[in-house]
Amino acid sequence: MEVNGDYIMKQAESCTNKKSHTEYAQENIEFTLIRANRKSIGIRVSDTGEIIVRAPQRTPLSEIEAVLQKHMDWIEKNQKRAENRQVWYDCLDQEQTEQLRQLAKVRLTRKTAHFAAIMGLTYDKITITRAKKRLGSCSTKGSICYSLYLLLYPDAAIDYVVVHELAHLAQPNHSKQFYEVIEQFLPDWEERRSLLQPEYMHNPLAHD
Ligand SMILES: [Zn+2]
Repeated sequence: MEVNGDYIMKQAESCTNKKSHTEYAQENIEFTLIRANRKSIGIRVSDTGEIIVRAPQRTPLSEIEAVLQKHMDWIEKNQKRAENRQVWYDCLDQEQTEQLRQLAKVRLTRKTAHFAAIMGLTYDKITITRAKKRLGSCSTKGSICYSLYLLLYPDAAIDYVVVHELAHLAQPNHSKQFYEVIEQFLPDWEERRSLLQPEYMHNPLAHD
């Protein structure tokens, strides 16, 4: 799963990425436009604050710009969040990052085993990555990856990511059925997911 921007699943795209820009409050707003086989316009803010717009093949640029301008508050909020996350990452030196990795291995192994037992699912292995964007992923073979930076979020949010990745063992997509699996075990998953924001980040090494 990704933390930034929306949660719209990436679709198979036949497209060419194109840099584009629009004016907003007399500022030049740059964005990457991806034409795809889809029905609606989707906006995402990357971990570096870049604006990525996915649009149907034939939607006119003027229409795309209008949608962008309408959502500028949301975009700016997410750009600010991307910036704040980076501040957190930059605060950790090499030693702290290694400590965090070790702590992540212990805590996430324990949590994954705990929820897998409750959910009646089996996974293969757990790998801790240094990914800044992708907090977790699950392969079709059942290997689960977590970013060590996941530990910077509240416990309730960590549980959500663990259950999210495990739920992929039952549903390898982000369908309605997938969220029903999560709902079954974490009825308050939406609230937990909303905690995956920089305003809730903390350094677990400071408390241990
Ligand atoms: Zn997912």
